[in-house]
Amino acid sequence: MSSKYISKEDILIFLASMGVELSKNTKMPMEDLTKRLGNALDASQQFDQLLGTKTVDPAEFPKWPGGDILKASHRNNIQESFTGTGATSQRKKGPLSAKEDTFRELRQSILAISHCCDEGTKDIYYMDGDEKWAIFVRILRVYKIKNDVPLFLFVYRQLVANPSSPMETQMQSFPAESRATIKVSELERRILLRLFEKNAKRLPPTYSIADGTDGAIASFVLPLCPIGMLGLGKLTANPGCEVCGKKTTSRCMQCLSVVYCGKECQTADWKTHKSTCRSLKGGSWHKIKVNSPGAQLPYSFILSRLDPTQGGGKDTVSDGTPPPDIHEGKVFLAKFQLSLSSNAIPGHMLIYDRTRSFQLFWLRKSDPDLFDEGVYMMRDKLKFYRWVRRTGDYEFDLCLDRAPAADPVW
Ligand SMILES: [Zn+2]
Ligand SMILES: [Zn+2]
Repeated sequence: MSSKYISKEDILIFLASMGVELSKNTKMPMEDLTKRLGNALDASQQFDQLLGTKTVDPAEFPKWPGGDILKASHRNNIQESFTGTGATSQRKKGPLSAKEDTFRELRQSILAISHCCDEGTKDIYYMDGDEKWAIFVRILRVYKIKNDVPLFLFVYRQLVANPSSPMETQMQSFPAESRATIKVSELERRILLRLFEKNAKRLPPTYSIADGTDGAIASFVLPLCPIGMLGLGKLTANPGCEVCGKKTTSRCMQCLSVVYCGKECQTADWKTHKSTCRSLKGGSWHKIKVNSPGAQLPYSFILSRLDPTQGGGKDTVSDGTPPPDIHEGKVFLAKFQLSLSSNAIPGHMLIYDRTRSFQLFWLRKSDPDLFDEGVYMMRDKLKFYRWVRRTGDYEFDLCLDRAPAADPVW
């Protein structure tokens, strides 16, 4: 098996560490999962917003004017600088960290490039604890792209120690005034290679850099940041046919709650699905109204979500336009969360869909009986998943007395 292979289980763990939570039992084919991993790495680099082109020629950008690269890498990282939970130092726990921390570790590893550039260190070795293998990275140049984000152009090479050539000896073949060693786990190594390879393919085909690092591959990387809500929504959407994971084309017409690739899988799943389907059938639906802009009604209000990485730290926008109904009038599952925070809006539930295409603040005072029924059904969990249907720009139907057969993972 290739040393770059990432198992399905590891892809799911890594995606979950990025906030992309797919079911552990997802039937999604490996090819689709791999693609999602690539898209997630791009979302974390904000690739589409910052570059977005198939081919990236760094030479088209101005060189970094010098200094404060670490600071600039943080600025690109609004959410983290707010929460203070992120990659704030170049110190890493390294290979001892839990797999569930891999994304945080990876962000620190990439942030270390900024730190090294500020210090004038050009060579970085991403290495395991036993110095059995390493990814050697030599930073060539830093460019300034959109939004004052740095782009790091480098060459990299995999090194594997062997009895006749221990790591120390191999490192000596790349003379450097100073070098940094960063401990990474096995999974992180594989993800780093995936990221470097992906970007390497984006450099113009003529890109080759003669600088004495034989066999090294040219690539680039952008600072990594947590993925915004909208991005997470896209990355968790359409997990595929309930049965086989393939692209879906049909939906159970009775309840609209499950999707299949076709008639065959739908028939095969009927035994499992029929109880949910039938239970949803007799559910009672209640209309709730949402304030349209400017109205002074005791209703709830709705906001479209924005990526936290845009909009200067705000994650919602209320510009007067209702969020689009991405469900096209169909029934979908929404998460209801009761807010107990006294400094938030008192007596409200936050309702949102899997893709966070909207964020609805449902106020108790707009329908106390229904609201209290919901709170009662939540018991002490303070959240549940229920079926919702959009009936207008500022109208929703809720079905609180029918629970999904299994809670989703988002
Ligand atoms: Zn299928
Ligand atoms: Zn059904």
